Amino acid sequence: MEQLIGNELYQNVVANLEAAGKVINIDPNILERLKKPKRAIIVSVPVRMDDHSVKVFTGYRVQHNQTLGPWKGGIRYHESVTLSEVAGLAMLMTFKNSLVQLPLGGAKGGITVDPTKLSRTEKQNMTRRYTSEISNFIGPEIDVPAPDVGTDAQTMAWIMDTYSQEKGYAVPAVVTGKPLEIGGSLGREGATGRGAIYCMEEMCNKVGLKVSNLTVAIQGFGNVGTFAAQCGNELGAKVIAVSDVSGGIYNQKGLDIQKLLAHYKAKRTFEGFEGCERITNEDLLAMKVDVLIPAALDGVINKTNANAVQAKYIVEGANGPISNEAEEILNKKGVLIVPDILANSGGVIVSYFEWVQDMSSYFWSEEEVNQKLRQMMVPAFNHVWKLKEEKQIPMRLAAMAASVARLQKAMLLRGLYPR
Ligand code: NAD
Repeated sequence: MEQLIGNELYQNVVANLEAAGKVINIDPNILERLKKPKRAIIVSVPVRMDDHSVKVFTGYRVQHNQTLGPWKGGIRYHESVTLSEVAGLAMLMTFKNSLVQLPLGGAKGGITVDPTKLSRTEKQNMTRRYTSEISNFIGPEIDVPAPDVGTDAQTMAWIMDTYSQEKGYAVPAVVTGKPLEIGGSLGREGATGRGAIYCMEEMCNKVGLKVSNLTVAIQGFGNVGTFAAQCGNELGAKVIAVSDVSGGIYNQKGLDIQKLLAHYKAKRTFEGFEGCERITNEDLLAMKVDVLIPAALDGVINKTNANAVQAKYIVEGANGPISNEAEEILNKKGVLIVPDILANSGGVIVSYFEWVQDMSSYFWSEEEVNQKLRQMMVPAFNHVWKLKEEKQIPMRLAAMAASVARLQKAMLLRGLYPR
């Protein structure tokens, strides 16, 4: 378990847990249990590459806490994935699920790989072997993975198929974020970005702003970033800058998001998109906007660049995008941060809906999904806001405190086995 400690995200989550524990006067035994995951799995993933050589990748699945129900959390393919990062992300899932009152525990998985360097066949081979290696530890009632950075609906389809082949029958509920044709849910693909925008709307209601008057910058133009741009744009917010790993684009008058989405979908790059200037990712983070939505990776806003941030509001689409040191700086500057476990919970909420639909083999309309998403997110936002106001604490601390309070009650009721 000592290997868990290296990553900054993990350390930040533990520090936030300790701080939240003080707010709710946590039972020290509960605190100790929550600091470490229940189980951490490391697997070798040998893959036959297109040139017939065999490359061995390292895969992880960390299952943090299952007090409230089956483990749930995404699978990340990225070259910087480590056991410690996955453990930190798994902890965040526990707190996210508890905060939005889902009957689910927290887990995360990943493979240390740059998926953009793999062919489709290599990616499929790797996904299937990884699934097979962890198949004893996942399942609809055990642990239900979903997409994260570097994985998508197709990846989930391969996982679902591999697991089902091993069982001998179709098991759609083993993963969420699947294509619709094999048991996916309408509304799942856009749920995280949409949920972040629901939070931005609620935040505007609280601080007396109009969404249609906002300027927004979004870092990351993948699943979360594109849907946040689209939903924000639909509500009239002016998205003036977006970026991906290669840098970003900017137009003070607002980017034409519909055209940009079509361009990016076809070309997978901002190159050639007209009516904008090129900027770097650092420029984007420092942009003078009302709302900044980091929707890429963790730790992107840190002590080296936090002072440069000019946005007054940050809605965390990504998990852990702001380091604790940066958060201190931003808090001092009076920046209001809607934290990840609230702001990006739309993804796991609709994943939960997908799991429910798969388990009952009865599917809902997109309208119903979006409506139910809002019904879960708005009360969670209000609950956190109320606690923030009552205790005069930052929103992240309030969100963690609300989450841990619920979890603590459940853990104490279940008790420790054996005594
Ligand atoms: P994705 O792989 O679809 O997109 C990631 C985006 O980030 C891409 O545009 C990529 O080019 C960009 N990026 C990568 N490295 C970057 C860098 N160094 N600087 C700037 N941009 C960079 O991933 P996603 O699913 O959209 O996830 C993004 C974040 O949201 C992650 O932190 C993830 O954990 C979190 N999240 C995702 C979901 C979900 O449903 N997909 C749910 C909750 C939280």
